[in-house]
Amino acid sequence: MKLAADNMLTKLARWIRLGGISIEDVPYESDDEIINFVKKRKELLLTSDKQLANRSRKRKFSVLLIKDQSIEKQLAYVIKELKLKPKVPGNICTLCNGKLEKISKRDVKEIIPKAVYEKHRIFYKCSKCGKIYWRGTHLERIKKVYKKAIELSKEID
Ligand SMILES: [Zn+2]
Repeated sequence: MKLAADNMLTKLARWIRLGGISIEDVPYESDDEIINFVKKRKELLLTSDKQLANRSRKRKFSVLLIKDQSIEKQLAYVIKELKLKPKVPGNICTLCNGKLEKISKRDVKEIIPKAVYEKHRIFYKCSKCGKIYWRGTHLERIKKVYKKAIELSKEID
């Protein structure tokens, strides 16, 4: 199942990618354009716009209406409804869904901050957009948010 998120949910989409699950950002603002884009690509749309969700259902494609505000609750709902199996750390780019590949420390020396270079050993590069990643302290926070989200997802019925 391919997923897409409207532009009110870009933060949620980034969090979903952090769990290794691919989701596309819909690059449009008007309902019609969003609907056409998602329908053509046979994607399931995540939106927090109730009206758009209703229109989408009428046009007969899958949509998931996100009502919660907190990222943990949003993630929990998506995990539960779509039966997702997130994996942290994921190995896709949080910006473009590209696959992350290991890159040697030597090769990133010129392009990352010196402090990061000195502190980390393992680096990854997005095969699509070229963004460089390393496993920093933020990984602990991501794991914590996911742990909470997975707990919450079990409480939803
Ligand atoms: Zn990328």
